[in-house]
Amino acid sequence: MNTNSQYPGHVDFLIVGAGFAGAVLAERLASQCGKTCLIIDRRDHIAGNAHDRYDEAGVLIHQYGPHYFRSNSERIVEYLSQFTGWHPVEYQILCRVDGRDWQFPINLNTFEQLIGRPSTTEEMEATLAEWRIPIEKPANSEEVIISQVGWKLYEMFFKNYTRKQWKRDPKDLDASVCGRIPIRTNRDNRYLAEKFQALPKDGYTAMFERILDHPNIHLRLNTAFDAATGQLVPGDSRNSSPDSAIRNPQSAIPLSYGHLIFTGMIDEYYDFRFGPLPYRSLRFEPETLQQEFFQPAMQVNYPNDHDFTRIVEIKHATGQKLPVTTIVREYPEDFGPGKEPYYPIPAPDAKAIYDQYAALAEREEKVSFVGRLATYRYYNMDQVVGMALTEFEKLRGKS
Ligand code: FAD
Ligand code: UDP
Repeated sequence: MNTNSQYPGHVDFLIVGAGFAGAVLAERLASQCGKTCLIIDRRDHIAGNAHDRYDEAGVLIHQYGPHYFRSNSERIVEYLSQFTGWHPVEYQILCRVDGRDWQFPINLNTFEQLIGRPSTTEEMEATLAEWRIPIEKPANSEEVIISQVGWKLYEMFFKNYTRKQWKRDPKDLDASVCGRIPIRTNRDNRYLAEKFQALPKDGYTAMFERILDHPNIHLRLNTAFDAATGQLVPGDSRNSSPDSAIRNPQSAIPLSYGHLIFTGMIDEYYDFRFGPLPYRSLRFEPETLQQEFFQPAMQVNYPNDHDFTRIVEIKHATGQKLPVTTIVREYPEDFGPGKEPYYPIPAPDAKAIYDQYAALAEREEKVSFVGRLATYRYYNMDQVVGMALTEFEKLRGKS
């Protein structure tokens, strides 16, 4: 990987964003096709939202919220395994409701906590059959939960968490949002359903360093692609007004390229011409404590109390051995100036706006839109890797 000072004046590919989408494409194009790539990011680090780092106390933290890698795809795991070993983790979390820690996602253990005595899968299934509201095709996030477990469990665990996280009623979100949480009648306590569940052995950032380690890949951090002018500018172009110094052509960084891969916000790319897409943001509040562990699990959710949704103590998952610990409280916030667009909002009104941008994107011949923000999808890391590998095959076919 070549850093800032040595990048050339012309590259085959300019790649905007050093997260999974951008890094995987840079790696494939450089290593499989001998293409030169300049990958830029407006942040001062690689790995996008998966970035992890050691904090002042020496605890490995996930800077932008917990990133639990999981996948059902052997192809994707095999691809990433070229750049990392794995630390297998059975991700487990709890939900604190009425002062008590409940097993979550809902399973037979949760059901036993609720009825206060031992039970069986058969009894749980029979009870849920009475509680659930028959809905053939759940159309939103309220329906997808009440059609599986009924109102009581929906109200205990889902209704208020979802309102806090998305500032919307679950009725106004696609079924896929709450529908991604499994509901079980056995004793499987794992948060996620995918076959492969593990963290990169040395962390995400170390894995990205290896992905980007190729002589044809040039990296430039603290550099934004200013979509309004199509230029590279130092710093973060979002914080500048259209006529500020940062948009001054004199401060632009000269570059020519054959093809652009854009992994940022698609509405920003098109200068918001159909109006801004809605996003949810977050504020992370870390706290280091002089004790080995703070809570009984890597994540405890607080659906009904507090302004934060969850407290994450990632040390449970990384397996790091240290006498101190760092916890992070996660507060949902509106997206706006100075905030990161962490979540696209899966809902019909947002999709209607996105479809207009997608129609423009489809007509582009020299620009590819890849990743969670550029395709406005609530995608996990493995899905973004899959999308990038598919885009690579398309680009390879073209060239
Ligand atoms: P990003 O990681 O967002 O990377 C895009 C990069 O582009 C950013 O670094 C940004 O700074 C840069 N950029 C954007 N616009 C510009 C511009 N104009 N100029 C220069 N640079 C620009 N997935 C899981 O699989 N498991 C999890 O447990 C999980 N937990 C998550 C928790 C949270 C709180 C969040 C927000 C996401 C989580 N994800 C999780 C999703 C995961 O972060 C994404 O799937 C993945 O990071 C998307 O990669 P990407 O490359 O599309 O985008
Ligand atoms: N959710 C909930 N209660 C919980 C956990 C999740 O209602 O205790 C809902 C909520 O709407 C959340 C969604 O399920 O946004 C997906 O949860 P997940 O933990 O997968 O969210 P992410 O890690 O992507 O923020």
